[in-house]
Amino acid sequence: MPEYKAPVRDIKFVMQELLDCDTHYKQLGYNDASEDMVDAIITEAAKFTEQVIAPLNQIGDQQGCTWTDGVVTTPDGFKEAYQQYVEGGWPTLSQSEEFGGQGLPYSLNASISEMMSSANHSFAMYPGLSHGAQATIEAHGTSEQKQQFMPKLVEGSWTGTMCLTESHCGTDLGMLRTKAELNDDGSYAITGTKIFISAGEHDLSDNIVHIVIARLPGAPEGSKGISLFIVPKFNVNDDGSIADRNAVSCGSIEHKMGINANATCVINFDSAKGFLIGQENRGLHCMFTFMNAARLGVAMEGSAAAEASFQGSLAYAKDRLQMRSISGVKNPDGPADPIIVHPDVRRMLLTQKSISEGGRALIGYLSQLVDITHASEDDDAKADAESKLALLTPIAKAFLTELGFECTSHGVQIFGGHGFIKEWGMEQLLRDTKISCIYEGTTGIQALDLLARKILGSKGQILKPLMTDVAMFAKDNADNPAMTEYVNTLNEYAKQWQVITGDIGQKAMKNPDEIGGASVDYLMFAGYVTLAFFWAKMASVAQSKLKDGGEDAAFYQAKIKTATFYFQRILPRAQGHAACIESGVDSMMALSSEEFVF
Ligand SMILES: Cc1cc2nc3c(=O)[nH]c(=O)nc-3n(C[C@H](O)[C@H](O)[C@H](O)COP(=O)(O)OP(=O)(O)OC[C@H]3O[C@@H](n4cnc5c(N)ncnc54)[C@H](O)[C@@H]3O)c2cc1C
Repeated sequence: MPEYKAPVRDIKFVMQELLDCDTHYKQLGYNDASEDMVDAIITEAAKFTEQVIAPLNQIGDQQGCTWTDGVVTTPDGFKEAYQQYVEGGWPTLSQSEEFGGQGLPYSLNASISEMMSSANHSFAMYPGLSHGAQATIEAHGTSEQKQQFMPKLVEGSWTGTMCLTESHCGTDLGMLRTKAELNDDGSYAITGTKIFISAGEHDLSDNIVHIVIARLPGAPEGSKGISLFIVPKFNVNDDGSIADRNAVSCGSIEHKMGINANATCVINFDSAKGFLIGQENRGLHCMFTFMNAARLGVAMEGSAAAEASFQGSLAYAKDRLQMRSISGVKNPDGPADPIIVHPDVRRMLLTQKSISEGGRALIGYLSQLVDITHASEDDDAKADAESKLALLTPIAKAFLTELGFECTSHGVQIFGGHGFIKEWGMEQLLRDTKISCIYEGTTGIQALDLLARKILGSKGQILKPLMTDVAMFAKDNADNPAMTEYVNTLNEYAKQWQVITGDIGQKAMKNPDEIGGASVDYLMFAGYVTLAFFWAKMASVAQSKLKDGGEDAAFYQAKIKTATFYFQRILPRAQGHAACIESGVDSMMALSSEEFVF
């Protein structure tokens, strides 16, 4: 099992050197998030994830959760670790002070979530889902609902879920059948069965607050008829204390490919008491609050998996002796050279490194945009942040999870046959991370959201702020010969991105299927180029640090070398996607459904 070491140096590089979180927090009035405080929190979180959460990863996979008569038990150690997580005040970090939170920035919490996810994907999902439930109640709940539910959720003694999926509807939530009928006391009776509900039932918390989508009698068909409800496992008195058991039960848990320690539940609502959040039939609107935050959280799971796999692979590649380097013996005292000398092993290691570090930079940036939407008093800055988040969230979600999955596959490959053996933990990382490409909207759905709804829906306008940032970066670095290669390449790709967008728009006017035919390639193209932008920025920061002299030269040189690898060996993949887009949808649609036989 790879031993997880929190990448504290790189997290601080991203937060403090690349994104200047100190100035960012001051500008937003986060006065408690001083540099010392950020350092202290990151250091403590690193210890907690390394010492408490990571050691439970393998046992969690082996034991999984168990279901007996509706009661779900998490694997050995999970309950105690969750207790420590709550006692350490971790759930409260970025929550509102009004409800007992510490009021620290979202972006600081995001860096901790990354460590938790690398250390133990299953464990990290329990608090991750709670955050979504809290965000929804805080944004759309009444003041009574907030007083009843928020303090315990913030504290972590209650957890939350998102209950959307039903057996016949996952992507197409407009087909949902769960019913909500008004009771005499103003509450609603919720009836229906939800499937695949993460953390739907477990033994970690005193109560579980489900956020449920359901349909009111006579509601419009499709997604315009979705309403959102709070449905607690135990009913809650007005003062927030726990009352009797609600008619919510866990029918079973799934036996699945990965994240075995996170309970994936069938949840039955049998006239359970629920409370409307927001307006009737406006549930989809309210859901966007948690969907965007949740998508960012899942994007982070992709780079967190790449990091965990990289750490295991790197240690193994330095240790495992096989064959001699083709360019001359590197380990003359040993019977063979360590496999890290072989170019192909380096290709895989550097792919993992460039995706985990590049992903961390992208997520760090997006998290700061979330900070701006939460705390800025400048309406223009907020609107700008929202627009960039709308563009970049589906890109980050789908691109980083697809690449994260690829990186865990490289991890298995670097270990050779041993990667296929459970003991080493590399195959667990691969199995655990596949789900990130699926839940919170599959890669295909993120791609449609990006291309159809956002890019073509805005006639390409939504791309402009990012393109302006790329142009500004190029201008700022115009006089720096060390940046010329990065800047020129980036400019070419930015131009190509805009040309491709225009071409798809033209083709789609003749054949709407061109959008679906191009969408995933378009998203991947966008992902490779976006990450190139962040690698160029990181190279620029590293160059300045080296110029200034001082400590850590090896760290900055490694950054620049990894940036070069990304530009020369990863970014060109975007051309393959561009070629696929250009060839259009015809070959995909040529076979009729009847002709599609085996
Ligand atoms: C372990 C696990 C945990 C989960 N946790 C939760 C949770 O906590 N809460 C919750 O509500 N749900 C949860 N889910 C459900 C998850 O969000 C859905 O599985 C996912 O959204 C996909 O829905 P589906 O499985 O019904 O697939 P479908 O919607 O049937 O999709 C099947 C395939 O068709 C593709 N597809 C569908 N429509 C289109 C289209 N228009 N264009 C192109 N391609 C399309 C999809 O991309 C996919 O590849 C979880 C699922 C799993 C497995």
